[in-house]
Order: sequence, then C-alpha cells, then structure tokens
Amino acid sequence: MTSLSLGGYMSNQKYEPVIGLEMHVELNTKSKMFCRCSADYFGREPNTHTCPICLGLPGALPYINKVAIEDCIKIGLALNCTVSEKSLFERKNYFYPDLPKGYQISQYRWPLCVNGWIEVDDGDGNKRKIRINRVHQEEDTGKLTHSGGVTLIDFNRSGVPLVEIVTEPDFHDVDTVRNYAKKLQRLFRYLGVSNADMERGDMRLEANVSVRPVGQKELPGYRVELKNINSFRFMVAAIEYEIKRQIKELEEGWTLKQETRGWDEDKKSTYLQRSKEEAHDYRYFPEPDLPEIRMKSDEIGKIRKSLPELSWDKQNRFIEEYGVKKSDAEILTELTELAEFFEVTVEHGKKHGVDAKAVANYIVNKKPNISVVLPTQIIEELKGKKVGVIENMGELGELADEVISENPAMVGVYKKGKVTVIQVLIGAIMRKTGGKVNPNKIREILKEKLR
Ligand code: ADP
Ligand code: MG
Ligand code: ZN
Repeated sequence: MTSLSLGGYMSNQKYEPVIGLEMHVELNTKSKMFCRCSADYFGREPNTHTCPICLGLPGALPYINKVAIEDCIKIGLALNCTVSEKSLFERKNYFYPDLPKGYQISQYRWPLCVNGWIEVDDGDGNKRKIRINRVHQEEDTGKLTHSGGVTLIDFNRSGVPLVEIVTEPDFHDVDTVRNYAKKLQRLFRYLGVSNADMERGDMRLEANVSVRPVGQKELPGYRVELKNINSFRFMVAAIEYEIKRQIKELEEGWTLKQETRGWDEDKKSTYLQRSKEEAHDYRYFPEPDLPEIRMKSDEIGKIRKSLPELSWDKQNRFIEEYGVKKSDAEILTELTELAEFFEVTVEHGKKHGVDAKAVANYIVNKKPNISVVLPTQIIEELKGKKVGVIENMGELGELADEVISENPAMVGVYKKGKVTVIQVLIGAIMRKTGGKVNPNKIREILKEKLR
C-alpha cells in the first residue's frame, strides 16, 4: 500500500483537478423498462420479479415503458436540456453474469436529452455553471451477491429503468461535486421520479478525475474513472484521494493512464480495477426490436408544464417572498412536504399576526415532526394561545370529498399507481383550512375514499 503525504492538493498550487460526473438514478416506476414485471424489487424474494424479457430469453420482445421516458424527459427539462424529437435505443454489448442478454439496452448516439446546464454553489458560495452533456434512458442489470465463496444472482433488478446523467468535465473542486450530487438528489425527489437513496443504490455515482497544470486550457489526455461509490462521503474521499495520488505520480515523473479504479473504504484508498475500455469495445448498434422514440414539441410542452416548482426555484422564492435566510430556505425546501407545511403555517400565522421568519425559525430549530404536529399548534405556541383544530370526522370527510372532486387529474394519476400524489390532495386541504387538519388523519381518510 502506498502512503501519501498529507499536504493536501489545495495547498499545491501547481495543479488543477478536472472532474466530470456520471450519475445513474433508478426510476420508481411501477413496471420495468421493457416488460411488465414490477420494478419494486427492493427486499423481495430473489428472482420473483422476472419474465422472458428481463431474463433475456431468446425470442422475447421488449416494449417501451412510457412513464419512464416521461420521467427521463422531466429530469432533462429540469436540467435545461434540449429534448430530442427523435431518439433511439442501442445495444451496449459486453459479457457479465448479471447481464443475461449479453447486452444492455441503452442510448449512445441518439440520447433523449442533450446539452443542458445547472448552476451549483462551490465551497465559497460562488455559483458555477456545470454543463450537462446528456440525460439518457437505459435499463439496470441483475444483482450479484458474493458470500462464502459462492456468487448468488438475483434478476429482480434486471430491466428496471435507469436514467444516466453525464456532465462535461466542468468541476474543479470537490465541494462543487458534492453540492451537485445533493442538488440532483433533491431534484429527483421533487420530481417524484426516484427515491434517490444512495445506500439502496437508487442513485449511483461515477467520478472521472484528472489533473492538469494550472493555466493549461486543454483537458488532460487521460482520465481515471472511480466506481463503487455508494455514499456522498465516500465520493468526496475517493476524489480527494485520487487527486493527491495523481499529483504525486506526475511529480515523480510518471505518465498517467486511462483506467478504472474502485474505492476501498477500509484502506481509505483507490485501487486499480481495470484499464478503461473505450466506446468501440461495446460495439454499440441500434436496438432492432424497439421503435425509435418520437417526441412532438407539444408533448414535450405538456411534460414541461407538468413539472412542479423545482427545489431551487422554491428556495429562491422563500428567500424573496418570506425573507427567510438562505441556509433556512435550504432546510425548508429539502422535502416538498416540509416546504408545504412551512407555507401553510405561514399562511395561518398571517391571520394571527405571526411573521414568516418566526415560523421559519421555529421549524428549522425545533424540527417538529410534521406528520404529528399541526400548523395551528405551531402558531399557538408562537402566540401563546389556542386557535382551533378540525377533529370532526364528518367535516374531515367532506373536505376529502371536496378535494377529490376538485382534482380529477391527480385522482387519475393516484389510481394508476403513483400514490405519492396523495400529498397534493393533502396540501390542498391544508391550504383550504389554513392547516387546521392533522395530515396523517386526512391521509387515511383520503386513502379510504380512493380505494
Ligand atoms: P465515455 O463515453 O467513454 O464514458 P465521455 O467522453 O462521455 O466518455 O466522458 C465520460 C465522463 O468523463 C464525462 O462525465 C466527462 O465529463 C468526463 N471526462 C472526460 N474527459 C475528462 C478528463 N480529462 N478529466 C476528467 N473527466 C473527464
Ligand atoms: Mg461512460
Ligand atoms: Zn420482466
């Protein structure tokens, strides 16, 4: 094992890191990408969510999951990409036991979304523009588990929709990389397209790292791809380690090569996995069993209109509209539910002369459990007196009926299986009543009525 001096690359003014990120996010659609098997595989009995299509049996014909395509486009639009009017799936050929077909259906030359960008804060709070090269649709592989000298394989994950988001090599420090990854995680949750849980593998990161002498404009002629990163912390550690390792090698006069390295958490170092393959090794060619995807501009427009207010827009609005501090706005917009709770409480507070900043302060510092605490209770506490909660079951039932008949589109989506939209109905009731309803109670009533 090599030991590296702890000087830290930041103090080394001679080199600048160049980093590009590839991120995979698993969509939470009901069914898989190219068959009707359930995509909800986590913790299920192995090999129970499979069929000839996702097992890659000869002769099985795939067909496209439209919801997944829409989710992919939502991500692309949120990242300011151009959505291609015509895109195509291709076969990425390689052999591995978790890939029974011998190829992964992916996109290469005709991705769904291209040329986007996103603004990300660096460590000092300056805004950096990161260009997005592409957002494309593909499928997941099976899952291998190695234990006691044997390897077990589970095909439940095989064919689950994955979206890959590739940046240009625009990062030059680790803080911006971390902020980018967190910002995208929040985006996926806001869009409701993925739980984006790193530990469960919903979200996976690969960082490409190289270093160049400060002042050099061209990209280095190599890059090291870091794999097996399953937490933000490991990602930062792996990139930091890699930057130091590369600088040390260059200082010693070595030439760096294109390769793939893994992160070893026990040794706190990266290790060589293989020299990097090139795109031509995969012999990409158009998937003959799937039609090309055509997106008309009005369809794209419809998807654009369906996007919720994005986390960063909400954050800015909270700062401007309510005068909330930036750091508080960030906390308040972490989850749509919390943001909604905050706004309902502010609305209610207005009637009782309680200022939005006081509400923000309360929520950020006291961290109330929003599934049991009511907005009215917070205002009561801030004012020091009672303001009333709706407990009557008849009245609650009527409220539920009202929002159900006022939101037929949401009800339709709910009945198709996107149960998270129930939050929208709860939000509507909260707004109607100024937060005088227990969200858990009303959720149960809504569920009952939507059965
Ligand atoms: P491939 O198709 O082989 O994956 P790409 O050119 O698409 O290769 O690049 C993949 C990732 O590597 C992108 O995120 C890109 O930003 C990044 N990248 C490209 N060149 C460099 C470099 N010199 N240093 C660091 N990252 C790089
Ligand atoms: Mg790649
Ligand atoms: Zn299947």
